[in-house]
Amino acid sequence: MKLYPALTTLALACALLTAIPPTHAAEASSPVVGLTQSQAGYHRFMVGTVEVTALSDGTIGLDTQLLQTPDRHSLDDALKVAHVASPLDTSVNAYLVKLKGRLILVDAGTGTLFGPSLNKLPASLRAAGVDPTQITDVLVTHVHTDHTGGLMSGAQRVYPNATVHVDQREIDYWLATANEQAAPKEKQAFFRQARASLAPYVATGQVRAFDGAQQLFPGLRSVPAPGHTPGHTFYALEDQGVKLMFWGDVMHAAEVQLPDPSVTIVYDVDPEAARTQRLRAFADAAQAGYMVAPAHMAFPGVGRLRVEGTAYRWLPLPYVNDAAAAKN
Ligand SMILES: [Zn+2]
Repeated sequence: MKLYPALTTLALACALLTAIPPTHAAEASSPVVGLTQSQAGYHRFMVGTVEVTALSDGTIGLDTQLLQTPDRHSLDDALKVAHVASPLDTSVNAYLVKLKGRLILVDAGTGTLFGPSLNKLPASLRAAGVDPTQITDVLVTHVHTDHTGGLMSGAQRVYPNATVHVDQREIDYWLATANEQAAPKEKQAFFRQARASLAPYVATGQVRAFDGAQQLFPGLRSVPAPGHTPGHTFYALEDQGVKLMFWGDVMHAAEVQLPDPSVTIVYDVDPEAARTQRLRAFADAAQAGYMVAPAHMAFPGVGRLRVEGTAYRWLPLPYVNDAAAAKN
């Protein structure tokens, strides 16, 4: 996915702040921090007996010009119908799975590479009661910067005790200098950033590449889904007959791609394959009725799909607040 210039985010924050009534002026003295701390950034739910926590890395504006379709008119209509406009507020989500003594993170967020509205994953994780040093495994859906940039903080590994699992095809593609040189100039940064994020884990023997469909842990397996990138991978979590599919970048703009799944994005390495993958994934999820977690769906980004003609409707996971009640 793509960053919208950080300026937009800052401009939005400033616009919000000017609307704060004078009585709250004191609270607005350190505005961005104040707004950031007002968000929980995590949401727990169960998949059978397995606890999963959705973690927010933040949100960023997505320029709809990045979406690709021959029918610009119907794309604009879809935006209107959804009461949204460019840039679309877009979440960057990661997920924590507590599985039999392991703390498994699905995707690692952006790190510092996408500007100040993101890089909140470590704070969201801590707020959920887990320190990044406790993470045992990171499952990478694909090596784009907004999914792996957060593996590093400057020269430091953010998850020093974790094994990073990724399809071999992703490593082969993103770490090959020839592919970087062949890529259009505006996409070459992805290759440099991929190297910077992964190389330190490769150097310490912490990257475990797998080949396609594999049972990685009991109840958790990889599902190849190439298209958006060559080794793009879903991860299927199943327990007690309940299933959740972590979807990575099967879509970027729900408002547009649910009504018309044929719309692609400039960041698809193979747009045709990405479109085919999305149509197949949507149809399968709607038919089977399992939960899905697309990385850029509005946080917490977990729900189901229902088919409606040639379109799909998002059915968010019902919110359950199972925290213990306070004793007054
Ligand atoms: Zn991506």
